[in-house]
Amino acid sequence: MINIRSNREIELLIIAGNIVYQTHQYIKPFIKEGITTEEIDRKAHDFIISKDAIPSFKNFNGFPKSICTSVNQQVVHGIPGNYKLKNGDIISIDIGACYKGYHGDSAWTYPVGKISSEKEYLLNHTKESLYRGLSAIKPGNRIGDISNAIEEYATKYHLGIVRELVGHGVGSNLHESPDIPNYGKANSGPILKEGMILAVEPMLNLGSKEIYIDNDNWTIETADNSPSAHFEHTVVVTKDGYKILTGE
Ligand code: MG
Ligand code: MG
Repeated sequence: MINIRSNREIELLIIAGNIVYQTHQYIKPFIKEGITTEEIDRKAHDFIISKDAIPSFKNFNGFPKSICTSVNQQVVHGIPGNYKLKNGDIISIDIGACYKGYHGDSAWTYPVGKISSEKEYLLNHTKESLYRGLSAIKPGNRIGDISNAIEEYATKYHLGIVRELVGHGVGSNLHESPDIPNYGKANSGPILKEGMILAVEPMLNLGSKEIYIDNDNWTIETADNSPSAHFEHTVVVTKDGYKILTGE
């Protein structure tokens, strides 16, 4: 079952989404050579708490930190630690915040200093694939329309689409029905309705789509060690389209 949220619930989801957006804006200036991923985690944690919210990922299925920090060939679910960012790295930061029982979820991949043109290509096209996916959202369309728009775009730019991890519904739980794969057939899957809350999140690799789970049992990495990017927004389906809850 896919939840349809009431106006009151959507008001809380707007606040939660905005806290996630603000947290991204708050940590962005700190993403520089020399900072550890643990320091970024601490800053994000304290900021979320200061907004009367709770970091959604902390203790989620046992995850030990408040945000996910995935560097270079790491795709998602990187655990913040003592790694110091270097010039030329890219870092995907995934943030969730829960406000009065409702979650916002958004990931963004940031450059550290000056990055290679290949990494810039990856970031630009992964971000654009997210917006292509979102543009398929309106009542009457289907989940497969989102998936297909992302797949078509990513394929055109020869990026590897991670299959094992997908977007999802979000609301009073961090992960709800439906799954939103980043590949699929147009005009297939559940029909979109006003009041659904969706987290769309393409994870694209500069190389092949293959991945593996690191020894820490959390971090997902590309099998060929190529860089990976991740862009995610939480949106509400509106009467004639969608509204981003984790953006400006
Ligand atoms: Mg996320
Ligand atoms: Mg998500």
